Amino acid sequence: MTFSIKNTMLSILLVLSMLFTAACTPIKMENTNNNELTVKVLNIGQGDAILIKQKDKVTLIDTGDVEQQDNLIKLLKSEKIVVIDNLIITHPHADHLGGALGVLNNFTVNNVYDNGQSTTTKLYRNYLKKVTEKKIKYNQLVAGQQLELGNDAFLKIISPASSFDKNGELNNNSIVTQLVYHSFKMLLTGDAEEETESNIVKSNIDIKSDVLKSPHHGSRSSSSKNFLKAVDAKDVIISLGKDNDYKHPHEEVLKRYKSLNMNIYRTDLNGTVTINTNGTTYEILKEQ
Ligand SMILES: [Zn+2]
Repeated sequence: MTFSIKNTMLSILLVLSMLFTAACTPIKMENTNNNELTVKVLNIGQGDAILIKQKDKVTLIDTGDVEQQDNLIKLLKSEKIVVIDNLIITHPHADHLGGALGVLNNFTVNNVYDNGQSTTTKLYRNYLKKVTEKKIKYNQLVAGQQLELGNDAFLKIISPASSFDKNGELNNNSIVTQLVYHSFKMLLTGDAEEETESNIVKSNIDIKSDVLKSPHHGSRSSSSKNFLKAVDAKDVIISLGKDNDYKHPHEEVLKRYKSLNMNIYRTDLNGTVTINTNGTTYEILKEQ
């Protein structure tokens, strides 16, 4: 009898100690984890350049403005990038297309994607000429498509619709995508404005995401309340330059983010903002 009670006590103690150990073991994300996907919202002043890396697969969404071209090339080289699998230009405004020529000249780019909307600028003509000259695979992205980034990550194309007006306003035709890596989701919005946000909400596409790249650099033209509610992100990252001419980010947009309890990250204050995820949990790191 005594023996049996002692045994039971020992078993209980053993189970308790195991539970205690489990509770105290921190769940830590290893930076060297092979399964880790990294998104970097690069600090390239007023514009967008977003790098997505997973193992050897590299995707670049937008290329910043012309005067930041050398900086962008330097940043990409410091990431030891030689080959870019996918270069995506959300729309042909200079603050998104500006560094494309430099990227095409300095790295091996395997695929180029845009929305197919042309403009009359020299910048755009030179970009398209270079893509043709280098015989790079060139395709257009529209809603409903899915772009595989390799290793289980993909981009779900949310906007523009396949029937979009190619003579329409450039910002609203921005390529909007949702980056999906297992259960991690990030919405990448280019410079989409309220009209597009409202169309996306009406379309009932599931855009619920963990992280939002603030549309149009935190401008009041974008981040409408219904859109933000549909995205329901915990964290928002604004890509913009210090003391920019547009006074981005607009105060009312910051207030809206705060009212929805979103954590705000800004490249003008925080430098490059890095998101590391293993597909389940994620962390956001600030450079400054
Ligand atoms: Zn822009």
